[in-house]
Amino acid sequence: MTEIKSLTIQELKEELAAMGEKPFRAGQIFKWLHGGVESFEEMSNLSKDLRARLAERFILTVPQVARKQVSQVDGTVKYLWRLRDGDCVESVLMHYEHGVSVCVSTQVGCRMGCKFCASGLNGLKRHLSAGEILDEVLFMQKDSGETVSNIVLMGTGEPLDNYDNVLKFLHLVSCPEGVNIGQRHISLSTSGIADKIEKLAGEKLQITLSVSLHAPDDETRSSIMPVNDAYPVERLMRACRYYFDTTGRRISYEYMMARDKTDRPWQAEKLASLLRGRPAHVNLIPLNEVAESPLRPSRPETVRRFQQALEKRGVTATVRRKLGPDIDAACGQLRRRELQKQQDTGRF
Ligand code: SAH
Ligand code: SF4
Repeated sequence: MTEIKSLTIQELKEELAAMGEKPFRAGQIFKWLHGGVESFEEMSNLSKDLRARLAERFILTVPQVARKQVSQVDGTVKYLWRLRDGDCVESVLMHYEHGVSVCVSTQVGCRMGCKFCASGLNGLKRHLSAGEILDEVLFMQKDSGETVSNIVLMGTGEPLDNYDNVLKFLHLVSCPEGVNIGQRHISLSTSGIADKIEKLAGEKLQITLSVSLHAPDDETRSSIMPVNDAYPVERLMRACRYYFDTTGRRISYEYMMARDKTDRPWQAEKLASLLRGRPAHVNLIPLNEVAESPLRPSRPETVRRFQQALEKRGVTATVRRKLGPDIDAACGQLRRRELQKQQDTGRF
């Protein structure tokens, strides 16, 4: 059976036509779906007969809140969703001056194997469907009663490893008949699958591409990110150049500050020379400690010096503010705890 929320309005129209229904019903149904209904029964402007036939023909995904943590410091909310098949994924809702921003997962687990990341420790379980990624947004809106204005694809998973579903999600979530979040308010973060970055450039989207660079030299980068063996720094930077040339969108580079690993003065210099002449923005992210990894966060003064070294060389860099410091903030940590709990109690 088809998951109805993974369908575009056009596809929904075709399905309805095949069922002998009027195409305008597609718009009504789409609205209900994107409003976060939990059953076809709720679609009160459809006949009982049509509601029953939809229920027979389609799957309506309704994620359940398995856990929820609210920061007492800044109101950041972290959700752990239980999906239809029992798998869990995380999302986070954050408050900024300019609105509400959510961070969503794109896969259950991740196969990229970055050494510092809790999401990848157990490998990839499965991809999320377009509708399941959309559900994270819909049900955070519903649960919180707030309107989401920005989305970052920075939760668990490598978005470009789930290319087709993520692309469809981007179309669904920016559709005017649905939640209508403009592509300029969406960021996609990738560990650097260069050929997929080039493919994405061809879609001519208005989203912001965020590249998790984390180290400017192959030796360091390969030691923490296996993807660098397939797409070394120079290859990745070529793809980034192509992305900018094709879309005109400035790229944002994520750079994780790990003590004595990625924060050395020569690395700031090398990073600046990599980015010279490119419209770019660097986000310095203090490493979140993960028990399984020996990496430690840089000292605050080292982060400051690194930032100044970049600025001095004409590269704009900001230090990412840590949201929800009193809850498990790092990607994948809530899901990992839940997995361990389930393993401990023998539920797996
Ligand atoms: N897979 C994508 C998007 C999800 S990860 C990617 O890797 O870009 C989102 C961001 O969190 C990435 O920049 C990632 O490198 C970073 N991240 C993962 N674990 C982290 C940790 N322990 N501390 C700081 N940043 C981390
Ligand atoms: Fe996957 Fe991103 Fe974590 Fe790397 S940092 S393992 S790509 S989720």
